[in-house]
Amino acid sequence: MGFITTINPRTGREVYACEFSKEGCQTVNCKALKCPYGYCQRYYACPNCQKKVKGEFKKAHATCKVSIDAYNKKEAEKLEILEKGLSIRTAALSHENGVVRVVFRDKDGKENYTHMMKETYDAIPLGANATIEDYEKVGHVKWVSCEDIYKPIALHL
Ligand SMILES: [Zn+2]
Ligand SMILES: [Zn+2]
Repeated sequence: MGFITTINPRTGREVYACEFSKEGCQTVNCKALKCPYGYCQRYYACPNCQKKVKGEFKKAHATCKVSIDAYNKKEAEKLEILEKGLSIRTAALSHENGVVRVVFRDKDGKENYTHMMKETYDAIPLGANATIEDYEKVGHVKWVSCEDIYKPIALHL
């Protein structure tokens, strides 16, 4: 959401306008309303609109709490996995012949490269902190060198 700005007719200076801008909204004294969970962008509202949205405010950000909780949980889980010395999926490169080239990175930033069948790759949801070991549980994973990740894949896994 981009902020709406307007010119304060009294001072001639650019100010934040009420984001609920309707006829009669004040364009001065707009205060920033911050997401109670620090998740979404702050927005500006005039004193009247602030009063109106007050009750709705927490409700409007209920999904922010869900999102931030899920994000924090995932980040904590990620740290835990990295601390164990494992690497986590960071990228998947274009696939051919049903093979996906998947890159994993460990806590020091060292990358590991693999090839796997698309079915194996699809077995773990994209949002998950997936390790090579996780993929090895659901299918065959072939570790390849950095040079080989870009080479055309000739053989089947
Ligand atoms: Zn307003
Ligand atoms: Zn929010």
